[in-house]
Amino acid sequence: MDFAIPADVEHRRLAFRDFLAREIQPIGDRRDAGSPLARHELDDLVARLQPCGIMHASLPHEVGGTNRSLLERVLLAEEFARAWPSLAVTIDSHNIVVEIIARQGQPWMKDRYVEAGITGRAFMGDMMSEPQAGSDTRNLTTRAVADGDHYVVDGTKMWTTNGVWADVALLTAVANEAAYRRDPRRGVIHHS
Ligand SMILES: Cc1cc2nc3c(=O)[nH]c(=O)nc-3n(C[C@H](O)[C@H](O)[C@H](O)COP(=O)(O)OP(=O)(O)OC[C@H]3O[C@@H](n4cnc5c(N)ncnc54)[C@H](O)[C@@H]3O)c2cc1C
Repeated sequence: MDFAIPADVEHRRLAFRDFLAREIQPIGDRRDAGSPLARHELDDLVARLQPCGIMHASLPHEVGGTNRSLLERVLLAEEFARAWPSLAVTIDSHNIVVEIIARQGQPWMKDRYVEAGITGRAFMGDMMSEPQAGSDTRNLTTRAVADGDHYVVDGTKMWTTNGVWADVALLTAVANEAAYRRDPRRGVIHHS
């Protein structure tokens, strides 16, 4: 197996490192590490990140993304965490939700949230983990029951990064009990 990083990926990794060192890291180094980011600071950082491509890296070509390989996305995440760890988690968590909507969302979700997510006009949170279900997504207890044109949701979620300021939250819940029991990849809805 070849563990070498392809030359083009390595080039983009180093370009991202330089970009962060120039444009983002100095802001993190200057501010008080003990105070949480305010929304206006986050909006400013997302605007500054636009030219480097991190907001597009995980998105498919159909929505203007660059559809980078998993390897490249891991390397970019490492570089981001090297420069400003908590901001890296904030932006990666947001990007994961934009990606799920771009790849699996219904057309109205894509229209409403993908472009808004790329630009940071809408900020995203992911409500997947629960007190007893982190890696173990076979053990979700949150249930969603269809009721006319909406769902009634019952459950407890944990660790929602960006929960304090998310405009949109993607909720994972079991909607089809029998299908979920047969195969935990089925019977689950993601709703925003
Ligand atoms: C910084 C941060 C941000 C987060 N943000 C979010 C968020 O936005 N939304 C959200 O929903 N959740 C979020 N989480 C929670 C995250 O999804 C969970 O921490 C993760 O799924 C792991 O679950 P756990 O912590 O319960 O650990 P566990 O699932 O209990 O895992 C504990 C250990 O056991 C290992 N392990 C687990 N299962 C197996 C197995 N089958 N075989 C072998 N080893 C195994 C794991 O690798 C790990 O080392 C965040 C967590 C962190 C640390």
